[in-house]
Amino acid sequence: MQQLKTKVLIIGAGTGGYVAGIRCGQLGLDTVLVDGGDGLGGTCLNVGCIPSKAIIHAAGKFETVAKAAGGGTLGITAAAPVIDLKQTVEWKDGIVRKLNAGVAALLKKAKVKVIKGWAEFADAKTCVVKTEDGEIRITAEHVVLATGSEPVELPFLPFGGDVISSTEALSLSDVPKKLVVVGGGYIGLELGIAFRKLGAEVAIVEMAERILPLYDKALTDPVAKWLEKHGVELHLGARAGGFGDGKLSITTRDGEPLQLDADKVLVTVGRRPRTQGWGLENMGVAMAGPFVKIDNRCATSMKNVWAVGDLTGEPMLAHKGSAQGEVVAEIIAGRDRVFDPVTIAAVCFTEPEIVSAGLGPNDVAGRDDVIQSVFPFAAIGRALAIEAGEDGGFVRVLASKADHRILGVQAVGQHVSELSNSFAQMLEMGAVLEDVAGTIHVHPTLGEAFHEASLRALGHAIHI
Ligand SMILES: Cc1cc2nc3c(=O)[nH]c(=O)nc-3n(C[C@H](O)[C@H](O)[C@H](O)COP(=O)(O)OP(=O)(O)OC[C@H]3O[C@@H](n4cnc5c(N)ncnc54)[C@H](O)[C@@H]3O)c2cc1C
Repeated sequence: MQQLKTKVLIIGAGTGGYVAGIRCGQLGLDTVLVDGGDGLGGTCLNVGCIPSKAIIHAAGKFETVAKAAGGGTLGITAAAPVIDLKQTVEWKDGIVRKLNAGVAALLKKAKVKVIKGWAEFADAKTCVVKTEDGEIRITAEHVVLATGSEPVELPFLPFGGDVISSTEALSLSDVPKKLVVVGGGYIGLELGIAFRKLGAEVAIVEMAERILPLYDKALTDPVAKWLEKHGVELHLGARAGGFGDGKLSITTRDGEPLQLDADKVLVTVGRRPRTQGWGLENMGVAMAGPFVKIDNRCATSMKNVWAVGDLTGEPMLAHKGSAQGEVVAEIIAGRDRVFDPVTIAAVCFTEPEIVSAGLGPNDVAGRDDVIQSVFPFAAIGRALAIEAGEDGGFVRVLASKADHRILGVQAVGQHVSELSNSFAQMLEMGAVLEDVAGTIHVHPTLGEAFHEASLRALGHAIHI
């Protein structure tokens, strides 16, 4: 068997692992990156963030033309659109391939050795990788675990045939006539809304009493309104059962059995860390529930074994894994770093979009030392000019009454994902309301709602 020794061995080339690899290479560390998946970039690039946003974008275009065909919009009329989903998926795959190649080139430039194959650990610092050309035993001084996560399967609704996960939903050859989404979290809603825009009849089955239960109700209300307006059937407080003969059995909130017609059942009930089948149990690392336990340096309980990304817990977001990957590389290179962000902003690319950074109203419930201020997009010129002012969207700022330190910023509205980094920067820099109020915001932009919400918190908003 071929033997390989390296300073750093990274398992998994998702956004956690490949970023760790590039940074290790930049810092001159001898680095090997192993991935057994379909392409560099892991879940995010191949079957997650990027392909889902591509399909969402295509669905938005389709909807715009459909509106123009259905009586006209903004004085524009058009013929009814037709979609060839196979071509859309090919276009999406082209973007993925381009990014795969980009990641490969960046790793090469950083002199990271990439090995394609599945790794299995015999002990904490040694693994065997099964490649197409045979097995390689790799020993390393430092091991970075970045094996990511996988979709949770329901035992009574196993994946296969017309019961699909988000992965298959992103590569369908036709728009299903009737789609039932089981699980009303962000992945299910993003895809459910996209397929509704593409013309599918969509029903959502969610056990909780609200969609997107991790976000507060004010943020999710505009999304719920969009679903209602567009005829998406919502079954809240309901449980899915088995699927057969084109029908999904559910039990409604009132305990009544109901059958929902479905060409496809998309199960998006969560993701779990990928901890099975690669010898994690032989490595002697401590666990925190289903996740690998790490400290604020991303160190596991085993010396010089590090872990990043979805494997290490919530929030399971690409940018968290990347940030951890950079930190770990720098620590291995001898720098004094910790992973201790003030905030990891989260975005739902629903219709409209939702952003949440820092503390929200539920986190400060019962506290009277916090100012909360909301500014609606209905009063922002740019929002009206791009048809983003009438869906109940707003920016909300939470700040300390005592010193005006910003504690949290949330928004709901079209395109608000683009505001998320400005929210995170203010929180990370420890900004006070006066910092945002004193920043001249470009007109006309959606970001003016952040400015106005901060002014409003100080008692002197201009446009309301
Ligand atoms: C539909 C969907 C949409 C999403 N949208 C967003 C979004 O908009 N924004 C966002 O921030 N996040 C989003 N996410 C989540 C995001 O994709 C993950 O948080 C991110 O990919 C996690 O990165 P990671 O590096 O931890 O692991 P992954 O990206 O899961 O990568 C792990 C890699 O490790 C490989 N691997 C595992 N075990 C082994 C082994 N033993 N040997 C070799 N290789 C191995 C796997 O093949 C995989 O390539 C989305 C996810 C999905 C499914």
